Amino acid sequence: MSRHTLLLLLVALVTACTTSPLNRRQVVFYSESEMARQGEQAYREMQSELPVTPNASEITYVQCVADYVIEALDPNLRNGVNWEVTVFDDPQANAFALPGGKIGVYNGLLNVAFNQHQLAAVIAHEVGHVLANHSNERASQSALRNVGITAARVLGASDTAIEAVDYGARLGLLLPFNRTQESEADSIGIMLMADAGFDPEQSVALWENMSAEGGPRQPEFLSTHPSPASRMADLRARMEAALVARADAQAKGINPDCVPGIIN
Ligand SMILES: [Zn+2]
Repeated sequence: MSRHTLLLLLVALVTACTTSPLNRRQVVFYSESEMARQGEQAYREMQSELPVTPNASEITYVQCVADYVIEALDPNLRNGVNWEVTVFDDPQANAFALPGGKIGVYNGLLNVAFNQHQLAAVIAHEVGHVLANHSNERASQSALRNVGITAARVLGASDTAIEAVDYGARLGLLLPFNRTQESEADSIGIMLMADAGFDPEQSVALWENMSAEGGPRQPEFLSTHPSPASRMADLRARMEAALVARADAQAKGINPDCVPGIIN
C-alpha cells in the first residue's frame, strides 16, 4: 500500500457522511464547534473592521425581522446557538450568516428589500446556509483536495497541521457557495420565513428587485448566486407548502410587525 493510499484511507476514516436538511448526502468533517469558533472569530474581525450603522432605527428593524426568523427555528437550533445580528454601514445589497449563528446585514440591502417580508427572505436564506452546514461542506471539500493536511491532523496533529486545518475551516467561510447549496438555502429559506409568519410570495419580489438593481454596480449577492430563472423555479416549487406554513403561523398568532425606520 502506497503512502498516498494510506493517507486516503485515513481521510475516509475521519470523513463524516451526513445529510443536509433536504436529505442530500454531504461530506462534513469539521466539528460543529470548530466551525462555530471560526464563524465567531471571522464575525468579530468584521465587527472591528467594518463600520456599524449609526442609524438606530435600522438596527431595531433588522433585529426585529431576524428575531422572528430565529424564533421559528427548531428549538434545538435556536437554543443551542448564540444568534447575533449586526447591521453594517455599507452600500452593498448583501447579507450573510456564519456558523455559530452570526448574522450580518449591510444596510444597502434595505434599499432593495422594500419591506419586512423581503428582508426576512434574505435573512432566512442566509440562515438556511448555516442550517445546512454549507460552510463546513465547502471547507471539507477544499481540505479533501489537500489530503496531506487532513491526514497530518489524524497522524500527529502538530501545531502546523492544526493551523492548516484552521485555515481550511476559515477558507470554508470565504468561498462562494455553489449552485446546489444556493438552491438548498432558497428552499430552506422560503419555508423558514413562512414559519416565521412572513409572506413567502415576497421572496420572489425580492429576487426580482435584486435583478433589476443590476447595472454597473451589480449587488455582490447576485454575483455568487444562481440565475434569477432557476432561483424563481426553486421558490415557486415550494410556494404552495410555504403559503400553508405561513397560514399555520398566523393561526398561532405569529404576525410580524417590523417597521422600517427612516433610512439615511
Ligand atoms: Zn446564498
